[in-house]
Amino acid sequence: MSDLRALYQSLILDHGKNPRNKRVMHDCGDAGQCRCTEGFNPLCGDKLTLYVRANGDIIEDLSFEGHGCAIFTASSSMLTEVLKGRKVSEIRRILDKYLDMLTNEKAIPDPEGLGKLAVFGGVKDFPTRVKCATLPWRALEVILEGVDGQQEIVNTETD
Ligand code: ZN
Repeated sequence: MSDLRALYQSLILDHGKNPRNKRVMHDCGDAGQCRCTEGFNPLCGDKLTLYVRANGDIIEDLSFEGHGCAIFTASSSMLTEVLKGRKVSEIRRILDKYLDMLTNEKAIPDPEGLGKLAVFGGVKDFPTRVKCATLPWRALEVILEGVDGQQEIVNTETD
């Protein structure tokens, strides 16, 4: 178990230091295919803009910009990496499972369904960091609920 934990920690460190898909989508909001939402976690100071480009029911591309702690950065990076190319319906299932893992006291992490995202289950042991790990996912939730051409700001302290 400690080997697994170490592997998990190195995954978070790697993504925290070398985030994937950290870039702006400049056509956001114009064509309607790309949506973006801003998110802010005042408890830690994490701040992001999440960009999602859909093609039909496939999410073709995801990226983010922002700054914050290593857990926030790793969570945003892995979200974009793991979800790219998946169907919206599949992404909704992963999203629900991920938020459940981190916010539901009784939820048992299911690594089968979450793949390497299950590493963030360990964040639950540090309650003050849970919102760092959920912020990009809350932003994604808003985008999937999506109102075209409207930007909504996610603030972890208002829900
Ligand atoms: Zn943070």
